[in-house]
Amino acid sequence: MDDKISLIAQKIAEGGKNVVFTGAGISTESGIPDYRSKGGIWDKFQPVYFDEFMSSKKARIEYWWRKAELYPDLVKAKPNPAHMSIARLYEMGLIESVITQNIDGLHQEAGLPDEKVIELHGNTCRIRCMSCGKISSIHEAQNRIEAGDLAPECECGGYLKPDTISFGQAMPREEVERATELSRNCDFFMVVGSTLLVQPAALMPNYAIQHGAFLAIINLSETPFDKMCDVLIRGKAGEVLPKIVKCMC
Ligand code: NAD
Repeated sequence: MDDKISLIAQKIAEGGKNVVFTGAGISTESGIPDYRSKGGIWDKFQPVYFDEFMSSKKARIEYWWRKAELYPDLVKAKPNPAHMSIARLYEMGLIESVITQNIDGLHQEAGLPDEKVIELHGNTCRIRCMSCGKISSIHEAQNRIEAGDLAPECECGGYLKPDTISFGQAMPREEVERATELSRNCDFFMVVGSTLLVQPAALMPNYAIQHGAFLAIINLSETPFDKMCDVLIRGKAGEVLPKIVKCMC
């Protein structure tokens, strides 16, 4: 493992265009469950599709009820040593950008500037009106739910929804284009905590490989890219990433 960590540190230090790609696994050590591990979110809930959300009040109530169930974990969550290590590498001028599938905002809370975090699946702390587009906060929506408003609506009458990409909802065009461009032009691409199963996010490591980038994967379980990567570490992000940073200091 130590050799693999040194090799990753050496590649990061080479000063090329370094990109980090994160998934739900980087935030499990912050207390936010991932989707596909045992005990993850898909063991508890089935997804509500976007068209169901838009066409049925019952589906909206169901959707918001699940969000409310996850709310206590979300507000308690703080960046863990993996998020802090990535922020440290950025501060050292060694990371170009982070592409994330996560919706929890923990990279920004760890210190990365907003413009350096490409959120492919949106951000759950932001609430958007599906009619007028007005943005409000999750805390406001949660207060309304707790007061008995089970599927909150905007003053314009539109449905309020966390600003995340639901199944069946279009991906954010600008974010996908930026992530594609970065992945196609990077020299080093490091995956942290993702099954690499969700599309189109999982195309990004493919673009990096096609460009000849060095591919590192730090993940607890298998991914379809394990045989194609240059370094694979089956370890906890919060333990491995601080060791990489330590190697650079
Ligand atoms: P996933 O749930 O499919 O996979 C998570 C992966 O992380 C698994 O392979 C697991 O073995 C690994 N993992 C778990 N804990 C780890 C740790 N401490 N260190 C290293 N690896 C660890 O997640 P995904 O690939 O990101 O895709 C799921 C979708 O879920 C994404 O679209 C994302 O939007 C959403 N999601 C986000 C959050 C979040 O924002 N924190 C949480 C759950 C789901």
